[in-house]
Amino acid sequence: MNLAGRRIEIHGVVQGVGFRPWVYRLARQNGISGRVSNGSEGVTIEAYGGEEELDSFLQGLQANPPPAARIRELRWEPIVSEPAPAEFEIVESRAGGERRVSIPADLATCNDCLEEMFDPGDRRFRYAFTNCTNCGPRFTIARDVPYDRPATTMAPFRMCAACQSEYDSPLDRRFHAQPNACPECGPRLRALTGAGEELFGTDPMSHAVRILRRGGIVAVKGIGGFHLACDATSEKAVARLRFRKMREEKPFAVMVRDLEAAEAIAVLGDAERRLLSSVERPIVLAPRRDDSGLAEGIAPRNPLVGVFLPYSPIHHLLLRDGGIPLVMTSGNRSDEPIAYRNSDALERLHGIADLFLTHDREIESPSDDSVARVIAGRPVILRRSRGWVPRGIPAPRRFEHPVLACGGHLKNTFCIGVGDTLYLGPHIGDLEGVETVRSFEEAIRRAEQFLQVCPEIVAHDLHPEYASTLYALERPEAVRIGVQHHHAHVASAMAEHRLEGPVLGVAYDGTGFGTDGTSWGGELLLCESDGFERLATFRPIPLAGGDAAMREVWRIAMALLDDAFNGHPPLDVFPVFAALPRKRVDLVREITRRRIQSPLARGIGRYFDALGSLFLSRPVSRYEGQVALEWNMAVDPGESGAYQFAISAEEGLPTVDLRPLVRDATADFRAGDSPGRIAARFHRTLAHATNSLVRTAAERLGPLPVVLTGGCFQNALLAELVVADLGRDFSVYLHGDVPPGDGGLALGQALVAAAVARRSEGDA
Ligand code: ZN
Ligand code: ZN
Ligand code: FE
Repeated sequence: MNLAGRRIEIHGVVQGVGFRPWVYRLARQNGISGRVSNGSEGVTIEAYGGEEELDSFLQGLQANPPPAARIRELRWEPIVSEPAPAEFEIVESRAGGERRVSIPADLATCNDCLEEMFDPGDRRFRYAFTNCTNCGPRFTIARDVPYDRPATTMAPFRMCAACQSEYDSPLDRRFHAQPNACPECGPRLRALTGAGEELFGTDPMSHAVRILRRGGIVAVKGIGGFHLACDATSEKAVARLRFRKMREEKPFAVMVRDLEAAEAIAVLGDAERRLLSSVERPIVLAPRRDDSGLAEGIAPRNPLVGVFLPYSPIHHLLLRDGGIPLVMTSGNRSDEPIAYRNSDALERLHGIADLFLTHDREIESPSDDSVARVIAGRPVILRRSRGWVPRGIPAPRRFEHPVLACGGHLKNTFCIGVGDTLYLGPHIGDLEGVETVRSFEEAIRRAEQFLQVCPEIVAHDLHPEYASTLYALERPEAVRIGVQHHHAHVASAMAEHRLEGPVLGVAYDGTGFGTDGTSWGGELLLCESDGFERLATFRPIPLAGGDAAMREVWRIAMALLDDAFNGHPPLDVFPVFAALPRKRVDLVREITRRRIQSPLARGIGRYFDALGSLFLSRPVSRYEGQVALEWNMAVDPGESGAYQFAISAEEGLPTVDLRPLVRDATADFRAGDSPGRIAARFHRTLAHATNSLVRTAAERLGPLPVVLTGGCFQNALLAELVVADLGRDFSVYLHGDVPPGDGGLALGQALVAAAVARRSEGDA
């Protein structure tokens, strides 16, 4: 027989997802001999056989890969037929070469593993670390590349004979499942008291369930870190958790045992159900049912609930044994990063947790839960972390130099662009405290190691005082490039839809440093990847006391009113001011007027803050964006009217003036109109204003694609209204895989910086 040979290179998410055993089985089915190996760039196959067999093997490779695998590229070339081996074999990973890709994201427990866990006859009955090639921890346990057991935190566990034979057998579901383990040889669950003393005598899970049922708080070590758990139906338990964690009103996510239980607390459509049961298992935001039975304290005055399903065996056991929905919130004190090391958790969660449900499989890289929501019928990732990180996003073009983008200030993530891929890092959080900044630096160091990359370009925000900017300045070995905040937002959306530019970018958010040194956030930009032109903006509002106004939103409300009524604001119409000391209101009014410590802000988020404060009588935001969110949620869906607005030209720049809206809404409110109807009209007005700006720009520039980006487009209603207004005449793009808020910013920074560098090299 005449044998031919082919070398097949496959790139994408192909390691740690049962890819090689699948290739092995496919090769045997097709009578192919040769070998498959994991390289640091993907998987390499050397295949020998007849031409027909090889063709059918290649077809099979592309037809239906394992569920968690993602083939991004498959290339092959003929190779000389060596004295062909009689068999097909899987060879050990080799280190070296260019290290790329290789580490997969963490995968939710699969159904096969679940069945074993709840089968009393199975050797893994109730085993809290059950996993296989289709599921289990990956990124969070990886210490190095290539992704192999010795390079994970499973290295210290020596497999027993039974596990080893599963691991070695190509036909077994656990063939080369790196975290493979069983009760004989693997990690063990432990229950510790709040003081750190181990509890013996009974199953650690039953200690945890007992505490939870009594309204206590349990710190649970999961995949990406510790959660704090409590009974989500108990008002007392939730209040206790809030008090101890020092978290006033920011919503808590709720984990339920299965899809059916999720339906009982939230209104779900098909898209939500798919998201909930995806291997990534994000927290999904959906309307809470009136009869959900959840404690009101979960998310005060918020009609949405963040719900998610168990994604590790520990969660499955806890939810089944406990029989109640559980609050599952990051294990930290207020705004610190999530605790993930045993000793650190015991120290930092001391005084919060009544019990620690922990174990001896270490977490190498922390990763918070991801958050997603369905907007305009499609899933949008609002926080991209566990389940997605470190999966790459294809770049619109190849990076000639590796780029590190440091992201923004709030909800920070960073991004590395190398080869033809963008790697968005895990959610870090607000870079306010020393601890968070340290975790930011550590995560960057780790990502650079995993990707074996030394960034030659470091991109950062234009704000001179952001911790992320200061960090970039400490990397003098690289070329540093500052990227305007809203330009980066638009570029992040362009990347995801592979738009080359020019595009019209509608960037609405809370704040971002403008090229003129003021705060922007209601911008229409004409964008290419290497530059932008500002086409329009919104009339600014002075923020009395700067950052103080972010919390005390009544200050913004007052400034807006003062502006709309030419210095004669009808404060008596609004109960929110009556509740405040008169002297304080007068003082703040005075400093606003005289512009003492009152920087101007154009963020659309500030309009939401101001109107929410006025019409919902909310003086203070207890977490970032609370009142703005409440103003969004207040909308009465039955109302379809809108208000007047004006567009003036300040310094030659078209500027949306919402003072007519403020005056009309005040009159409506005085006449007894409901806040819900005013909120609905406000949303429609914003959509109309956006529509008008875009159409005016398009008259001059032609019908360019329109992208909607920035934190305000987490607001499903606003996004849907703008799409409805513009969608008939324009191609309108929303976010999907990349968060619209600052969690996606770094990705745009990386692209802009690479484009700017390319242009300046071209010039030189
Ligand atoms: Zn499994
Ligand atoms: Zn074992
Ligand atoms: Fe932003």
